[in-house]
Amino acid sequence: MVKSKLEQLPIAELRVLLRSWYQQAGRDLPWRQTFDPYAIWVSEIMLQQTQVKTVIPYYYRWLAKFPSIASLAAAPQQEVLKVWQGLGYYARARNLHRTAQWIVSQSDGQFPQQLEQLLTLPGIGRTTAGGILSAAFNQPTPILDGNVKRILVRLMAILVPPKQAIPQLWQVSVTLLDPEYPREFNQALMDLGATICTPKQPNCDRCPWITCCQANHLHLQTTLPMTEPRVPLPHKQIGVAVIWNDQGQILIDKRPEEGLLGGLWEFPGGKVEAQESIPECIQREIQEELGISIDVGNHLITVNHAYTHFKVTLTVHHCRYLQGEPQAIECDEIRWITLDELDQYPFPKANQDIIAALRSSPPALNLD
Ligand code: SF4
Repeated sequence: MVKSKLEQLPIAELRVLLRSWYQQAGRDLPWRQTFDPYAIWVSEIMLQQTQVKTVIPYYYRWLAKFPSIASLAAAPQQEVLKVWQGLGYYARARNLHRTAQWIVSQSDGQFPQQLEQLLTLPGIGRTTAGGILSAAFNQPTPILDGNVKRILVRLMAILVPPKQAIPQLWQVSVTLLDPEYPREFNQALMDLGATICTPKQPNCDRCPWITCCQANHLHLQTTLPMTEPRVPLPHKQIGVAVIWNDQGQILIDKRPEEGLLGGLWEFPGGKVEAQESIPECIQREIQEELGISIDVGNHLITVNHAYTHFKVTLTVHHCRYLQGEPQAIECDEIRWITLDELDQYPFPKANQDIIAALRSSPPALNLD
């Protein structure tokens, strides 16, 4: 079906139309001003889960701090996570760091230029590899991110959710890609999706592909792409402790390297079990995780946060350290630090709200 529709597409015309539109209307983005594969790789990874306007200041800050693969490889992981702090999906930062170290030690400091090799590196899938190789080396490697899927589904009037048509969509992306100007073509496609063929109200009147677009011909441009039925996300209730000792220090722990938010610091706590109150949960979790007993005091803040596959509600209490030697039983490391020292550690976004609440709420008034 897609194959026969593809054969009917005026491929050469589509390439020319897109390129001339891009030359007039393409976005002027910082990573478009370079062919440096390192800078382009950083931008591609940052853009995987994050919007352009959020990425731009992080991109500049990152390159100012780590201007080369070698400088990134040599940095301590905590410094890398700190610069990434606030961008979310921290596995991306850990993967950049690990890959930089691999490039320095195994690839003579040179960024790999073979698609197959790039695909073996952590955090680099086919779209990211295609984006890097086309932008940095002008290689004819296709891309298929969310924006591109939407455009192609509409262009071809594909009447199933994009997830069910991935091989066909790759086939369309491969066929359309301009072998003479792959860098410009892929960037133009991304811009078309971001500025014209937008999710809700595509601006078809300004689209260079309007005469060839099947969705437009069939008046389906706002109906496509078709969506999958949404499954409600699981919701976890978490009890969290801000534990104070007599010296006015707070106990924080570092999450295990592997897994969600690995390598970041947090206030200790855990999942509330059935029939358990929040103070009971906090007391039990702190005993299990750190081997100490505490008094659970006043409520500090409740924070709601959504991750990709679940939501959490963190209910945070001030707590007083009573006895026992804190041990890193279910975490990598623990430290007693002052309120002022919190800034030196990378924390997940949900914990930033706790830090802000701590700063505006004097602990002595909140502890029993
Ligand atoms: S004509 Fe409309 S629906 Fe079709 S590709 Fe262009 S913006 Fe998207």
